[in-house]
Amino acid sequence: MADGVTLTRDDNIGIITLDNPPVNGLSFAVRRGLADQVEAALSDDAIEAIVVRGAGKMFCGGADIRQFEQTPPANAANLPAVINQIEDSPKPVVAAIHGVAAGGGLEVALGCHYRLASPGTRLGLPEVTLGFVPGAGGTQRLPRLIGVQNALDVIVNGKLLPSDRAQALGIVDEVVEGDLLTRAVTLARGLVGQPDAVRKVSEREEGLEEARSNPALFSDFRKKMARRARGFDAPYACVECIEYAVTLPFEAGLAKEREVFSTLVTSDQAKAQRHVFFAEREVAKIPDVPKDTPTLVVETAAVIGAGTMGGGIAMNFANAGLPVVVYEVSQDALDKGMATIRNNYAATVSKGRLAQAEMDRRMSLISPTLSYDDLAQVDVVVEAVFEEMDLKKRIFGTLDATCKAEAILATNTSTLDVNEIATATNRPDKVIGTHFFNPANVMRLMENVRGQATSAETIATIMKLSKRLGKVGVLVSVCDGFVGNRMLFAYRRQAEFLLEEGVLPQQLDKAIYDFGMPMGPLQMSDLAGLDISWRVRKSQVATRRAHLRYSPIADRICEMGRLGQKTGAGWYRYKDGSRAPIPDPIVENLIVSVSEELGITRRPVSDDEIIPRCFYPLVNEGAKILEEGLAQRPGDIDVIWINGYGFPRYRGGPMFWADLVGPRKIYNAMKRLHDEHGNWLKPSSLLGELARDNRGFKDL
Ligand code: NAD
Repeated sequence: MADGVTLTRDDNIGIITLDNPPVNGLSFAVRRGLADQVEAALSDDAIEAIVVRGAGKMFCGGADIRQFEQTPPANAANLPAVINQIEDSPKPVVAAIHGVAAGGGLEVALGCHYRLASPGTRLGLPEVTLGFVPGAGGTQRLPRLIGVQNALDVIVNGKLLPSDRAQALGIVDEVVEGDLLTRAVTLARGLVGQPDAVRKVSEREEGLEEARSNPALFSDFRKKMARRARGFDAPYACVECIEYAVTLPFEAGLAKEREVFSTLVTSDQAKAQRHVFFAEREVAKIPDVPKDTPTLVVETAAVIGAGTMGGGIAMNFANAGLPVVVYEVSQDALDKGMATIRNNYAATVSKGRLAQAEMDRRMSLISPTLSYDDLAQVDVVVEAVFEEMDLKKRIFGTLDATCKAEAILATNTSTLDVNEIATATNRPDKVIGTHFFNPANVMRLMENVRGQATSAETIATIMKLSKRLGKVGVLVSVCDGFVGNRMLFAYRRQAEFLLEEGVLPQQLDKAIYDFGMPMGPLQMSDLAGLDISWRVRKSQVATRRAHLRYSPIADRICEMGRLGQKTGAGWYRYKDGSRAPIPDPIVENLIVSVSEELGITRRPVSDDEIIPRCFYPLVNEGAKILEEGLAQRPGDIDVIWINGYGFPRYRGGPMFWADLVGPRKIYNAMKRLHDEHGNWLKPSSLLGELARDNRGFKDL
């Protein structure tokens, strides 16, 4: 027994078992243990062949992510060297893989001479999703084994493959239906004394041929991935390493891979992506709603309103296999809503990403209705009608009277007070906000808004439901715009002030896009429609925000009838049927004239000024939200911004990014802005504390 790894013997077969629950992670100790046991098996003359396997629920989940930032102990074993040692073994080595072989786990298996897997096993190299590259031969061995194109797809995508797909690709030699260990021992025994039993992946060349005969393969792949990989270092580094596999001898390629790995694994991007990985798991923890809080069974749902959001929300339920009733006020609206849902599915079918039969099954789960009677027995209702308090209260009153007593009544409101909506019912404990993002069937975020009276059971049920719908649910409390939109508002206002000071829309949007957002704020509002925020500015929300000056430019644009892409013009102009924004002199003249009216002398503003001006106030608002206890953790805010607004994952979310920039720098900038522009930019006192103590949001 060495740390976390055992060596046992079945007659002439040595069995090395990784045993480090829960995932047999390759910690420093386990790597040392593996090296020692391989050594022991090699020097034991009674052992003629070796099986490597995992104890418990899987083969091996890979490296121990938490150890990436630690200094290895003096006796640390280098994983690539251990794997080489396995591959160089003169005794045949069989990997017996069950459950999962991920990252370093798969790399260990690739060092073995044969790979057997149980049905249902998932295998892959997910390093890219954490911001780095496989660092123990994965990028050098996999292309040799399955071909360069396939290896590019697997490694750059980072998703785990099911065992049958892994077998089809050639990663796995055999999928074993019966007892895996028995089969592995039998295979190993049969290999003893066979002339070609030791098959080293590192010596294979066939897989590399396709790239040698097609020099454009790598550049084509880089072009193909450009859109999805924009801003990320790791996907490009993966391609670079696979290219080394083709152009360099194995040992040299391995050394290069290790070099790239070592640089990336401690990079800010990898730190950011690790942070997001943990933050997305952490969101489920709610101090006053413990894990064992009972939840209601949700088997059926209803959606009120089949507009932009209602349709998408209904699709989420159907996608998860839950029957959903969709209620509308008129047959017309209902037909229109159902047609949109159908068209959305049909588009996915025509792209080959959904089978027709599956579309039919999902459509059959969605039942349109004009009668509240059909809602009497559903377990959860999500209301998504117009953003009007009186209307919502009326609907909640009706729902309360119609739906069974246990049913949870949720609202998709983006600005209204969930507590006030709850007063329209006799079950405020069962009222909650479920704030989906547009398009609701695509965006992963659900901002779940707890009211004062919302019960732990309701919260736990809705958090669980988020997961079931394939979403990441983040719990927040009631405030103006909740967490995401309240911060968005702070950022958008700055963007528009910058227009008054000297920036034009195209420069502003480009700077934000280059920072890594999917698009700039003005292009975004052209896409969403300018009338939404226009209505908000004119509504009761405006009275709450009356102390906050906002730029009049957007209102003027709306007054010209320019409501965004849907009217062919907004902040930009659009050619018929095109979504490509064209800068418009009319808007530029309008902006310049507003500057004049306000007595502002326009000045050149650099991109380096745009980013802090827009994102520091965003962080500042996030800090105020934390101060007020409206979000549970800085990481929750990061998860909201990454999954709801497209904040670049490789920057870790706004609060993580703020720590990299330095809270002190942001606080000082906020103080300056506050002195120059007035009280709508008041620095957060929490930010002030962090600045004073030289701490970060990560320390909270
Ligand atoms: P929408 O105008 O597209 O759809 C609203 C639907 O509600 C319409 O189909 C309308 O016929 C229906 N409706 C109106 N009165 C009704 C009633 N009494 N009973 C049943 N149905 C009724 O609006 P939307 O963009 O889908 O927004 C719906 C809600 O979602 C709003 O609260 C909005 O703030 C919120 N929201 C919108 C977005 C977005 O980007 N559009 C994002 C998040 C949240």
